[in-house]
Amino acid sequence: MGLSPKSGIAGTGVVAIIDSGRPGPVVALRADMDALPIEEQTGLPFAAKAQTTVDGKKISAMHACGHDMHMAMLLGAAQWLSTHRQHFRGQVKLLFQPAEEGLPNTSSGAERMVADGVLDHPKVDAMFGLHVGITPARSGQLSWRSNGIMAAGDSFNIEIKGRQTHGALPWQGNDPIVIAAQTVLALQTIVSRNIDLTRAPAVISVGAIHAGQRGNVIPESVQMNGTIRTFDPAMRQQILQRVRDTAKYIAQASNAEAVVTFDPGYPINWNDPALVQQMAGTLKRVARNGFDENVSASPTSEDFAYYTQRVPSLFFFLGVNGKASSDAQGAWFANHSPRFNPDEEALTTGVEALTQLAVDYLNAKKN
Ligand SMILES: [Zn+2]
Ligand SMILES: [Zn+2]
Repeated sequence: MGLSPKSGIAGTGVVAIIDSGRPGPVVALRADMDALPIEEQTGLPFAAKAQTTVDGKKISAMHACGHDMHMAMLLGAAQWLSTHRQHFRGQVKLLFQPAEEGLPNTSSGAERMVADGVLDHPKVDAMFGLHVGITPARSGQLSWRSNGIMAAGDSFNIEIKGRQTHGALPWQGNDPIVIAAQTVLALQTIVSRNIDLTRAPAVISVGAIHAGQRGNVIPESVQMNGTIRTFDPAMRQQILQRVRDTAKYIAQASNAEAVVTFDPGYPINWNDPALVQQMAGTLKRVARNGFDENVSASPTSEDFAYYTQRVPSLFFFLGVNGKASSDAQGAWFANHSPRFNPDEEALTTGVEALTQLAVDYLNAKKN
């Protein structure tokens, strides 16, 4: 496509620059590229059969979050932009980013690309990205909002330390499974009883519990992992403290110990209100199947948030639910489902949205 010699690799991602040859601003468009460790069950003729090895274990890989669509749309935008350079000034930076879904104990693809200077040389003035979604939105509908559009996501780990004993003689030990059960239920009261839900929503979920080997052995300890989603920085701090206190004092009440650790996740994915206002007309123009400019914020999180901390950004959703995207009762096969089956008809809207956001921004901005 005749990309600039300044194109290259950053943070294991790929960066391509399309230079109009005329001075002007720099806009960046981003697509994430990674798949998920899920065995595809769509039955489609082109269903993923890929396998990979993680920590010595063979696992299947599936594009269950639609990042393959993100790549396809960014390539579509790249094709048009690289062959119509006379239609804009400045430069377009294309970011093909790995590892959005994250792996334990490593920084995300966006963090790594930002650290490698992807927003500098040339400095990016504005940034656009999108995510496909099976939601009530129609296929091809575009949705966005100002301020936080996706949540901050923090992980927590709770280790409950009891004392191992025979399952028939519980009074001779200290059962951490019963304490874990109390803790799971109490954690659910933090959002429902402690948080001002009229200000912003929040979610706490325990997604993994590991303990024990045999039915007749009370184990020594329980490991629990969960996730916290918030849209408000003060509320986030309040919830972290309540999770810590809840686990600690419930364990203490049973003469056991809970060790609570947090793994801070992606920050709030923040849409710059001025940029949203500037570009809303473009999104409305290209939306072929309607739009929603005040969509509900999503409790999922996105490492696009790291770009939004550095550069005025606009992240939006593209509806991709088609005939095959739900079961006979109408229940969606959402992102991350093994039966995720997005409607490819929506791809053209996504290509147009990315392309026109870049062109309109570059031609409008005076600098
Ligand atoms: Zn995902
Ligand atoms: Zn995703």
